[in-house]
Amino acid sequence: MMQASLLGKAFSRGFTSRAVDGFTGAIGNTPLIYLKKWSEKTGCNIVAKAEFQNPGGSVKDRAALGVIRDAEERGLLKPGGTVVEGTAGNTGIGLAHVCRARGYDCVIFMPNTQSQEKIDLLPNYNHQARDFAKNLPNAVWTDQFDNVANAKAHYLTTGPEIWEQTDGKVDAFICATGTGGTLAGAGKYLKEKSDGKTQIWLADPPGSVLHSYIQSGGKLVERTGSSITEGIGQGRITNNLATLVNDIDGSLNIPDEKSISVLYDLLDTEGLYLGASSSLNVVAAIELAQKLGPGKTIATILCDGAYRYQSRLFSKKWLQSKGLQDAIPDHLKHYAVL
Ligand code: PMP
Repeated sequence: MMQASLLGKAFSRGFTSRAVDGFTGAIGNTPLIYLKKWSEKTGCNIVAKAEFQNPGGSVKDRAALGVIRDAEERGLLKPGGTVVEGTAGNTGIGLAHVCRARGYDCVIFMPNTQSQEKIDLLPNYNHQARDFAKNLPNAVWTDQFDNVANAKAHYLTTGPEIWEQTDGKVDAFICATGTGGTLAGAGKYLKEKSDGKTQIWLADPPGSVLHSYIQSGGKLVERTGSSITEGIGQGRITNNLATLVNDIDGSLNIPDEKSISVLYDLLDTEGLYLGASSSLNVVAAIELAQKLGPGKTIATILCDGAYRYQSRLFSKKWLQSKGLQDAIPDHLKHYAVL
């Protein structure tokens, strides 16, 4: 049997039970879901980690607990302290939950704008978070992009879980990156454990530079364009991504039309109600399956659920405003109800 949580402490309050220790004990050990339709279509096993089942609702709960535990272990965060971060989404939610569960205050810097502006502003509010933490006693800036405790959390949990749940038979792992923590941490574990046999691929949305960085053998270009996906795409090599970037086997660029089409398909065929980074990851896994050929097992990440985005992703008006209404097959259009 798997441990309750490699990140969370074992439950030990004097009673025997399968209960886990609070919010943090419930992080991780998510199911690995076999995606039937796309597995059958490609002749591969396409499997995906149900990270939306984490108690804060996303893959970022793992990183949130990882950076907080690291700050505690290094003596940077003491009882009653404050955690500060710049984030527009899931990391903030994960940190807020973990902070309450451990008695810390939490201050999140985020822009009150959407999409492209949000992406452009990210370095700004990240620096604001850093400066705020510097001037506040007993405060820690968790620095999710460059603090490698983030990738370490995935090295210690996501990677081993995928390895165990596939009985060590995982030919490839592919996912998109924001901070790079998930790809680098889980990817590094899988590479090491398989003696280099598991291929690690990066999936990139439009407006991100990582695909061209990998294709060009290490040239960084300016960011141009944007994507409907949130939480992924990057303009630089973060410290987290740097821990694996030279060992990445390949990359795929996934246009929004494909991500939105498969988002609706996964709801219709699997009953999975997902955010757009999850469906981008599934598109990438399908394309990688087609590249590698039948018989392979390809793992990816379902980062979060659609509930945080439903007023956009399932709105006809919003889809129209993005020019994506025709990307959804006719027989699935009725799911856009808002
Ligand atoms: N998908 C979503 C919805 C996210 O919020 C994030 C985190 N930014 C990611 C994917 C990417 O994860 P990571 O930061 O570990 O690269």
